[in-house]
Parts: sequence; structure tokens; C-alpha cells
Amino acid sequence: MGDRWEGGCSCGHVRYRLTSEPLFTHCCHCLNCQRQTGSAFVINLLVEADRLELLTGEPTAVDVPRDDGSAQRIFRCPTCQVALFSEYGRPEVKFVRAGTLDDPAQASPDVHIFTKSKRDWFVLPESVPAFEIYYDQHELWPPASLERLEAVLR
Ligand SMILES: [Zn+2]
Ligand SMILES: [Zn+2]
Repeated sequence: MGDRWEGGCSCGHVRYRLTSEPLFTHCCHCLNCQRQTGSAFVINLLVEADRLELLTGEPTAVDVPRDDGSAQRIFRCPTCQVALFSEYGRPEVKFVRAGTLDDPAQASPDVHIFTKSKRDWFVLPESVPAFEIYYDQHELWPPASLERLEAVLR
């Protein structure tokens, strides 16, 4: 893999590496993600928890309320507080924030979701599927990723 999927926080305390390609890469335009990032969207690399290897440091888990009443567990560097990855209910799959990669250009979205709250000035690329809210992963994910997901959720 080299260090293509290696990243960390701003102060260098927490470093991580994905030991596989991501299962799938989301670009999420929902209002929760906009608020959390202070930006127009987040790019999340979905990967099994056991394929997200911590090289240094121990992120702190913070439960953040979402608009639908659920909570999202965000893992932050305890020193500089940069958010590195999160969980949406299931701890078996981590959502790694692609902007924390050493080379964020390695990540490109496989799907755009929650485009109903997308900013007007962001023009969706025609080459990538986009959904007003969410999608059926069985219709979009490569078979190998579906197999990997089933293996960890079993
Ligand atoms: Zn840090
Ligand atoms: Zn979102």
C-alpha cells in the first residue's frame, strides 16, 4: 500500500494508516457534516475498523448530536482536537476524513449524498452518482467491498 492511505492530525500526535483500499468513499453534503467541518461537505473514506491502524496516539471519542436525534461518535486528537474519523452507529466501520490524509488528492468520491442540502455553487460531476438523500449500497458498491462489509457485520 505504501503510504497512500496514511494521515494524521495537525500536531502530529495521532497518525493512522488504512491497511486496505477504502470500501467506498462518500462525499456528504448534509447539514450535520457542513456544521461539523465548517465547510460545504465532508469526504469520508469508509473502512473496516480493523483496517484502520493507529500508528501513534490515541484519539478521543466525542459523541456529537445530529439533527435526526442520533449521535455521531467523532474521534479527535486529544491535543490539537482535529477530527480524524467517526462512527455512525456501527463501530465496525469507520468513516475516515479524507482531508486528514497526508495526500488528500488520493481520495475521490464514489458517490455524492444528501445533495438536497448541497450548496448551489458546487456543481456535481456527471461521472459520479449523486443522491438527494442516501442510496442502496448493494446497487453501487463493488462486490469485493460488499463482501468485506458482510464479513465484519456478521
Ligand atoms: Zn493533534
Ligand atoms: Zn453528512
